Amino acid sequence: MDLMEYQAKELFAKHGVTTTLGKVVTTPEEARSAAEEYGFCVVKAQVKAGGRGKAGGVKLAKTPDEAFEHASNILGMEIKGLTVNRVLVTPATPPQEEYYFSFLLDRSNRQYLCIASVEGGVEIEEVAKTNPDAVKQIAIDPGAGVDEAKAREIATEAKFPEAVFEQAVTMIQALYTVFVEEDATLVEVNPLARLEGDKLEALDGKVSLDDNASEVRHHEHEAFEISEETDPLEAKAKAKGLNYVKLDGEVGIIGNGAGLVMSTLDVVAYAGEAHGGVKPANFLDIGGGANAEVMANGLDVILGDEQVKSVFVNVFGGITACDEVANGIKGALEILGDQATKPLVVRLDGNNVDKGRAILDELNHPLVTQVATMDGAADKAAELANG
Ligand code: GDP
Ligand code: MN
Repeated sequence: MDLMEYQAKELFAKHGVTTTLGKVVTTPEEARSAAEEYGFCVVKAQVKAGGRGKAGGVKLAKTPDEAFEHASNILGMEIKGLTVNRVLVTPATPPQEEYYFSFLLDRSNRQYLCIASVEGGVEIEEVAKTNPDAVKQIAIDPGAGVDEAKAREIATEAKFPEAVFEQAVTMIQALYTVFVEEDATLVEVNPLARLEGDKLEALDGKVSLDDNASEVRHHEHEAFEISEETDPLEAKAKAKGLNYVKLDGEVGIIGNGAGLVMSTLDVVAYAGEAHGGVKPANFLDIGGGANAEVMANGLDVILGDEQVKSVFVNVFGGITACDEVANGIKGALEILGDQATKPLVVRLDGNNVDKGRAILDELNHPLVTQVATMDGAADKAAELANG
């Protein structure tokens, strides 16, 4: 789960990272009241995307009226396809210098990575391209972690100036605590700013939390979910315990096993090229238990997607045999009744395939077409989606 800036800053504050929380508001009037309290302030779009500054989503306000004005412009604005529904208002002290700092999971090297630069701010991507030496990468051994000595090594490597060096050492350790204690996969601060009086403060925050941890060790992370920011179909699927990701195409996909579903997406995308460029509409892995209820839940979510024109059910029978899956499809069609309106292409193979196919043959449902091969079924589903 990716967090909004104001949520990231809540975690920063919890673990002793110097930051200013401010107020999250949804109307220009509330922004005005916050500004009355703070005086000179900054009004910042809250969306899960970077580059808000460049998009005009971060504005300084000298007066409450200016804060009102900026909030009216920023609320409702689209940044990278995301609508701004809330703004963060915080007291603003002009940064003297802007640094970049992050901890992230380095999967390929099986360790953590720290990236730091004293040339941070909105142009960090540009700095990384034109002056890569200014962006330091320091490997972190997850077993050893970041103690004071390691934090000093990082601060030295990154060349944090003398005046803020000791604060940087403390800040680095606190950010590492956020990263580890909260089970984050990314903790990024850009800018980590040197304010007037040489005070170091996190002016922005980006945190991605590991959902696997949120389900076990961090139930409190659920509070970070903002219902209207989640795709309604994804929310529905989640409530039903389904592993679903909405995509942008026309062919609904149901499969068992993440690997099979992913290869199904590829095969459908490829088949779609010959059928008007139709694409997969979603990822949905129903896992091992392809019974009627799970199948009905899956179909219900997929059929709720207006973009979907056909559905491809691709199942390889293993522990759950094909006849159980076929009965699942049969039961799902009974449960859904009139709600099932789109053609289903079913490809069954593996354990008890003959029994499974016989069940669907006998059902002889007008919406169901059986195709024996994965490529053939993908082609049929793409053809129906294009028709
Ligand atoms: P991003 O563009 O989405 O990364 O949003 P940021 O929060 O990083 O804001 C972009 C720029 O606005 C920063 O690089 C700062 O220069 C400025 N900015 C952001 N927050 C503050 C603040 O609290 N006070 C002041 N004075 N400037 C800020
Ligand atoms: Mn930023």
